[in-house]
Order: sequence, then C-alpha cells, then structure tokens
Amino acid sequence: MSRRVGILERLAQGPVIGDGSMALTLEKRGYCKAGPWTPEAVVEYPEGVLQLHREFARAGADVIQTCSFYSSDDKLAYGRTDKSQIVHTSKELNDAACKLARIAADEAGCLVAAGLSPVPSFGKGMSENLVRAEFAKQVEVFSKHDIDFVLAEFFIDVREIEMCASEMKKLNKPMALSMRIGVSGDLKGVSPGECAVRMAKTGAQIIGINCAFDVDSALKTIQLMKEELDKHDLHPFLICQPLGFLVPEVADTTLGRVCLPENPIGVEPRTLTRIEVHKFTRAAWDLGVRYIGGCCGFEPHHVRAMAQELSPERGKEPPCADVCPTLGKDGGTCLHSSEKQSKEYWYNVKPGTGRPFHSALSKMTHAAVDVRP
Ligand SMILES: [Zn+2]
Repeated sequence: MSRRVGILERLAQGPVIGDGSMALTLEKRGYCKAGPWTPEAVVEYPEGVLQLHREFARAGADVIQTCSFYSSDDKLAYGRTDKSQIVHTSKELNDAACKLARIAADEAGCLVAAGLSPVPSFGKGMSENLVRAEFAKQVEVFSKHDIDFVLAEFFIDVREIEMCASEMKKLNKPMALSMRIGVSGDLKGVSPGECAVRMAKTGAQIIGINCAFDVDSALKTIQLMKEELDKHDLHPFLICQPLGFLVPEVADTTLGRVCLPENPIGVEPRTLTRIEVHKFTRAAWDLGVRYIGGCCGFEPHHVRAMAQELSPERGKEPPCADVCPTLGKDGGTCLHSSEKQSKEYWYNVKPGTGRPFHSALSKMTHAAVDVRP
C-alpha cells in the first residue's frame, strides 16, 4: 500500500480543502436533533452520515472530519435528568464516527481528522482534571483508529482549548486548534492575536477559527491572528472554516451567529452563494490561509466552489468535475446563455432574496445566552 501523504506535507505543498457542515446539514436531512446537536446519527443513521462524507469528498474536500461534534459523555448527559434517555456513550459514538470517516476518506484519497469540541464540564466550572478526562476518553478512542490528525474546534475560551490540546498531544499526531471567535476575541475578552499565540504555543501545527462568524469577519480575525503570530515569530499553518451564512451585524459580538433571532433554523436566506465562496476562498488563500474549509451552512456545492477556485494551485479539479466543470471554463456553468458562461458575469450579479419588505439585517438578540450552534 502506498504511503498516505499527511496533512503537514499537504499544507507545505499547497492549499488543503476542508469539508463542510455536518450537524446543521444532517439536521436539515432529518438525521440530527436541533438543540442538542449531538451525533447519535453515526450509530442510528450511519448511511446518512456516510453519504454526506462522500458528497464532501466528491466536491473536492481533502479532509473528512469525524462526525463527533459534541460527543463527550458530559454533553450526551447534558440536560437529561432521566439517565435512561442517554442511549449512547461517547466511546460508542466516537468509535462509529472514526469508522465512517475512514470509509469515505479511503474511497477518495482524503485524510481523516478526528474532531473534538467543547465540553460542558468546562462551562460549569469543573476542575481541570474533570474537563481533561472528558477529552481523554475521546482521545483514547481515536488512538485505536487509523486517523491522520486531530482537530479541536468551536472553542470560545482559550483556556479550554489549551486543556484539550494537552490531551490531544497524547495521540502523537499533527494537531489543529480552531476557535469560534471574531475580532472581539474569546469569551473572556482575550484578543484573537493572543488566542493565536497561545494556541501556537501548545505545539499545534495548525491554528485558526471556525463557525459563529461569516466569511468577511473571519478574514479580519485571521488577519489579526497572523499579525500577532508574526510579531512572536510563530508560523503555524492557518485554518479558516467560517459559517456558510452572511451575518455582518454580529461581527463585533463575542457570540456571533447565536445573537440573531432567526438562528439556528431560519437562517437560510443568508446562505452564501457559491460565487461568494469563490471570492472568500481566493481572499483567504491570498491572506496566507492554507487550510480552507467551511462550518455550519457549508454544503457540498460550497466545498466544490473552494476546490474549483484553487484548482490551479492544487493542480487538479474536484472529482465531480465531469458533471460540474469549474466556473468560467468551457461550459463551466452548464447553462445555455453565452453571457452566463463567464466568471465575470457571476462575480457582478447581486442576487435578490425574493422576500418583499424584509430587511437585509436583523435586530440582534443581545441577551443571547445559548452559545450552542
Ligand atoms: Zn459551525
């Protein structure tokens, strides 16, 4: 069997395209419950999870993240006073998630990123030992599987991601750390630059942000991180996996998207067009981001747009190119109007929303306390 080219080698060679939304997209498809956002689907509806993995791979993703968001035991028990409602353990879910990701990754030559996310024990102020124990249980499962690297994401407090990193190190695999912060920094007001430096000092080779904020805000936050890292002569690879929605009015908040009254199940009018994804991808690459992917709201066609935008740098088209050629190439839009064949046409279109009397922005719910997706 030929040796798999690892994540750090791939990042050193050029862009790496991440995958997209799992929990939110599985919820839309009827496989995940809005609210808890826990991944029981990996056991109860494995075919649904595997299909989504395969769609991201076909769209051009280089990495398949395990569907293990919010799969710690304390999260699975969260809000469930009747313990009989807890049907699956963290071990069981992480085990199944690793297997499904590996199947899809092997079919398409992708890498598997084992995913970790915040645990309620930290939010409740439990001891560091108890918090780390929740991460350790998941890391233990990952150690039994053929994963390529480990990715902690969606953290809003830099202290918690540092605790998580301490456990991740035990895997002896490349580490990626990603926070869901904007220009205002983390929950305690630690700036994006300081968060970046602290993440890099854990030894993680890949650091950045995901979720909560939109593409424009994410680029500003990454810029702040990069400036501070440069001052400290730290040069990790940068990762950026923003929301698949435009949410400019929350750019200066700490919590981001959850401040919107229509979050989480009425945000579809804000969905990015693939043209906006093309523009974001180019801007992120030009800024120095090597690992470009998407979080909540990023569907397979968004991932395709990222892979197509960077196809010159990657030296290849996504696997679906036979059906869906790159925008601007011969027949690239598969449309019959010659005017609409050009990239320039689509870059200048201002799509309507189709909703008379609706405003472009919403009045924020400043009292938002629910920090879940
Ligand atoms: Zn997300």
